[in-house]
Amino acid sequence: MKDVSSLMQSRIKGNYVALFNSIAQVAADYQVGVYVVGGFVRDLLLNTKNLDIDLVIEGDAISFTKKLAEKFDGQVESYEKFGTSTLRLEGRISIDVATARTEYYSYPAALPEVKPSKIKSDLFRRDFTINSMAIKLAGQGEFFLIDLFNGEVDLKNGLIRVLHDRSFVDDPCRIFRAIRFEQRFDFCIEDKTKKFINKAVESSLIAQLSGDRLINEIKILLNESSQVKCVDRMRELSILQTIAPEIFVDDFHWIVMEKLESALVWADMLLMPKKPEVWFVYFYTLFMVTKDEVFKGMMERLHFPRNIYSRMCSERECLTSAKQDLNKKKELKPSEVYDIFSKQSSETVVLLLAICSSERVKKYAELYFEKYSMSAKIELNGDDLIGMGIKPGPIFNDILKALCDARVNGQVKSREEEIILVRSRFVK
Ligand code: ATP
Repeated sequence: MKDVSSLMQSRIKGNYVALFNSIAQVAADYQVGVYVVGGFVRDLLLNTKNLDIDLVIEGDAISFTKKLAEKFDGQVESYEKFGTSTLRLEGRISIDVATARTEYYSYPAALPEVKPSKIKSDLFRRDFTINSMAIKLAGQGEFFLIDLFNGEVDLKNGLIRVLHDRSFVDDPCRIFRAIRFEQRFDFCIEDKTKKFINKAVESSLIAQLSGDRLINEIKILLNESSQVKCVDRMRELSILQTIAPEIFVDDFHWIVMEKLESALVWADMLLMPKKPEVWFVYFYTLFMVTKDEVFKGMMERLHFPRNIYSRMCSERECLTSAKQDLNKKKELKPSEVYDIFSKQSSETVVLLLAICSSERVKKYAELYFEKYSMSAKIELNGDDLIGMGIKPGPIFNDILKALCDARVNGQVKSREEEIILVRSRFVK
């Protein structure tokens, strides 16, 4: 076993030193084995920053976390059903604490049944060799790397390798995880592991995942910085075709997908009130199909959660109507541009740009965010209108719309000019 104490000392800095010392102290008080595992160990060996610590306790994780939280002023969230806790500390440090466990899968893609165990069995239930290393934090064997599956060698050789033949049968989510780590670190999925993926895909194991789990994995994948490469890898491994044969049937998907990155960079420079959710723009593009009935059929078949289903449908409607409105006339008045863009989410704006790919859409969106959305502010309010002798009713909306249009079109620039407009058009 390799001693990694000097590596820990050289790479663990600042708040983490006190944190790891306290973990070791609580472990000694409780007389339980405590290990840091998974991504944190992998990233420590890769010398990559990782603020998420996963601890495994050979004992009760929840009471351990509460004890740890007393030492730090942290927030604990416990999940009794799973015997796990999360401790959140200042500076975005988050610690997940779990009881060491063995997992059993009663059928492919089922949620596992779990039983408390020792660290070795806990490491065996993990996804890849590079994620199955641990470091003991206190007691005998302190700061030695526990690497039962040659994870360190695979890390050096840049390989993503499962621990056993049935890994993807037990949990097909690992197929997406394999792509995620492969693309993130620019690694390769090891040959046998790739064969297991092919077999799992051919046996339609992905179709056995619930809509929730499928969405969750794709969402995490599309939050990586190499989305297009991840999607391309899914296509290469026939995963996309298995999820939905309707998608990626022509080049249009790739053309849009490749434009999303620059559309997002452009959107980042705009004064948008809410920044777009990156995963969603890629997700929408992934499931973009031309025909309405094909789109609806696919959405229903995939059993996506209700909120995602409605979000996809409303995104489609918004995009279609925005495209039609933008194409109606060659030159739009500022108030018409305002009307179109004020109804759109930031995700729709990014998608519009990538799909239409026109300088005109870009110019209008820039004008909207940089100019019109700010000049649309009206000074008169309902009380002012009542003070002018106008009775409250639907007419108020017409007046406010007329004032907003006039502001955006630059016909009105002050409260006084607003009053003149209302008097001339709405007061008999
Ligand atoms: P990231 O840097 O993306 O957070 P991570 O390795 O920390 O990577 P998590 O999803 O937080 O990934 O999972 C933590 C650890 O739990 C993993 O390193 C792995 O050991 C284990 N793990 C997570 N999901 C699975 C799974 N589906 N099957 C087996 N082991 C898993």
